[in-house]
Amino acid sequence: MTDYSKEMKKHLRTQKLRKASKQTKRRQKTKKPRRKDWIGDAFNEFDELEFETVERVMPRGERERRRTVEQIASTSVNKGQNDKGRSPQDPDNSTQEPEGLQGQVVEVSTGLCRVDLNGENILCSLRGSLTAAETGFTNVVAVGDRVIVSKNGSTGGVVEAILPRENILARPDVFYSHLRQVVVANADQVLIVTSWRDPHIWPELIDRYLIASHINDLTPVICVNKVDLVEEQTELQAVIQPYHDLGEMVILTSASEGIGIGQLREMLRDRTTVLAGLSGVGKSSLLNALDSNIQLRTKQVSAQKGEGQHTTTQSTLIPLEFGGSVVDTPGIREFGLADVYRPDLVHHFPEMVRFINACQFNNCTHLIEPGCALRKAVASGHIAKSRYHSYEKIYTTLPD
Ligand code: GDP
Ligand code: ZN
Repeated sequence: MTDYSKEMKKHLRTQKLRKASKQTKRRQKTKKPRRKDWIGDAFNEFDELEFETVERVMPRGERERRRTVEQIASTSVNKGQNDKGRSPQDPDNSTQEPEGLQGQVVEVSTGLCRVDLNGENILCSLRGSLTAAETGFTNVVAVGDRVIVSKNGSTGGVVEAILPRENILARPDVFYSHLRQVVVANADQVLIVTSWRDPHIWPELIDRYLIASHINDLTPVICVNKVDLVEEQTELQAVIQPYHDLGEMVILTSASEGIGIGQLREMLRDRTTVLAGLSGVGKSSLLNALDSNIQLRTKQVSAQKGEGQHTTTQSTLIPLEFGGSVVDTPGIREFGLADVYRPDLVHHFPEMVRFINACQFNNCTHLIEPGCALRKAVASGHIAKSRYHSYEKIYTTLPD
């Protein structure tokens, strides 16, 4: 485990406890969850890039949702079967699974979803008793969900139950901002795609995605694409060195020249990977370079959309021919830092944390105070300037 991971895990444990106690208090007060908008200069920059200000990613409330859905699913599926169902009073008794075929949701539209059943792609409706009511989410199923399906004729089916999720990425719902929408379930890692030029590499965005990935227990993989446009190798090395030092995985690629594609393929093999990155960095080009048939499969999914009445697709899980899948979602491109408060931020920069006890003031923000050990460490080259710059920029966008 890298220093980054250890430090993050320790900090996240503390943070989760804090979050849990806050949530309990909040529920007791029956208040709506607080919505945090990004503010300050960085907000304006993001706004220019059409970032949704309400975007965020978090697994909060997942346990309750899971219990409710499992509970409803198990009672509905096992209706009429003696002693088979889980009692609603006993939602943790997970020994009993609804009967049917197990598959994975690859696409979701309102009231319908497309499920991959061992390579067979079927359109499913949702069992009426599966509901998102009181779960804190506006959607019942999400891309990546593992589900139990009963087949209904040769091409259709019904989702009977949603199996427990390992993790989720969620964001506030577009229409009901006090509720959240699950964007992706059960992902393993986030591929943070940036380009060296066109658009120019943006370390602050990499750092945001890194923090969000760690918060959500997803492994980040940084991909710097368009390395064919690098003029000075030393410049590129200087930008990526801080990430190597942190123990993060960095892959250098050129989709157009075929550089680093083999390494990227190995990173994606047999895993569910969420793609993150601005438009134009080369995500589609990379996918095409990785898997020559991917365009075809993407087109097939689009064509099949015509079958359903509702075609407001949120995100798509695309299987890779060499194993694994990628999730391309409009949601993830804009994900923000959920529940990170200003004093927490430094803990998400593991190389900085070790200096903060030496700051003159114990409530040092590390921005302007005299006697700030962290800024001294930046000046003496112990902390990369680019990372500190991200810290400064992100800090101004967070709530107190
Ligand atoms: P996406 O929006 O992230 O999916 O980006 P695209 O894959 O559509 O690529 C955006 C543009 O960048 C296209 O004109 C591509 O031809 C170009 N592009 C993609 N990868 C590379 C690369 O490795 N090197 C160079 N020079 N251009 C690339
Ligand atoms: Zn300080």
